[in-house]
Amino acid sequence: MNPATAKPSDIVRALDQYVVGQTDAKRSLAVAAYTHYRRLALSQTREVTLDKANILILGPSGCGKTLLCETLAQHVEVPFVTADATSLAQSRFVGDEIEAILGRLVDKAGGDLAHAGRGIVFIDEVDKLKVDASGASRATSGESVQHALLKIMEGYPARFSDGRVMDTAGILFICGGAFVDLERIMARSHSFGYIAANQEDDAGVLARINNRVKPTDLFEFGLIPEFTGRLPVIARVEALDREALARIMVEPKNALYRQFRLLLAEMGAQLVISPQVFQQIADLALEYKTGARSLRGIFEELLTPILYMVPDHPEVKAVHFRSLFEPPVFQKAQDAPAAQSAPQS
Ligand code: ADP
Repeated sequence: MNPATAKPSDIVRALDQYVVGQTDAKRSLAVAAYTHYRRLALSQTREVTLDKANILILGPSGCGKTLLCETLAQHVEVPFVTADATSLAQSRFVGDEIEAILGRLVDKAGGDLAHAGRGIVFIDEVDKLKVDASGASRATSGESVQHALLKIMEGYPARFSDGRVMDTAGILFICGGAFVDLERIMARSHSFGYIAANQEDDAGVLARINNRVKPTDLFEFGLIPEFTGRLPVIARVEALDREALARIMVEPKNALYRQFRLLLAEMGAQLVISPQVFQQIADLALEYKTGARSLRGIFEELLTPILYMVPDHPEVKAVHFRSLFEPPVFQKAQDAPAAQSAPQS
């Protein structure tokens, strides 16, 4: 889809196919991307100065920040790369690292500099670039990385060592991070008790106001004002609860359940997993505290023995998991549908 014609609601619908929940973040991203690409299109036809509005996306790890950005880029058909602020901070030559990130974007665009110049760059863990609140470490690498990123986020042309020059003004930068201490800072700085007591009955509205991250919260957290100034759109993803984790295994277009069903179908066997099992896996994932990240590992562990055994047993026509804590039930070609014996290997 042409990025300049993808409406916010189209973008949200596309994101809905791959990302469970995160409704507010989807909307903020969709509107920001829509506005960004409209501005780009307009600036080519009219005398409009391009004011870049990059995005900051906050929230716990493993809850869909990268997935949202990647799916957005796929939908608007622009090249996409991710980078890690922590490794930028560890590098001695930040400028070279940033050039390498933009170089990867050009590769993704098949060498087309103009197409790369409309791409999306997701920089994760920008919260790790925070300046020490005591002010003692003003010259830390975190702060200098913020300055270096600022330059490309402001749209300075990038000069590659091979002499090529790339216009970065059309690149949409999305910075992500968990910002763990931010809740505490916000709880201190936002005092909406007065609204709650006097004017506001709607708990939803109150929650929204309280949920808004102010630039001053980000300064206090340790991002420099110029950097936050370049990130006027702030989206938040929520922690995933048990229900969301269970849905993630089943509903998205490329959900784990769909992938493994396909894999087994190709071996001639049907995979059936009862809803209870998804709830049990979600409980385990909650214990691991890594959002949806651990789901794949748990799935692999559950299904590795099956994937090992089924190719040797073409008579197995179906495998049914009814509980995470019970062996699966096998249905063989000659069995009546309810047969329960496991094949002997
Ligand atoms: P983050 O960037 O927030 O740390 P990711 O987007 O990289 O997390 O998520 C890690 C993996 O977990 C993704 O590849 C995806 O499979 C899954 N995932 C996380 N959140 C969601 C979600 N809301 N909907 C669907 N899948 C998700």
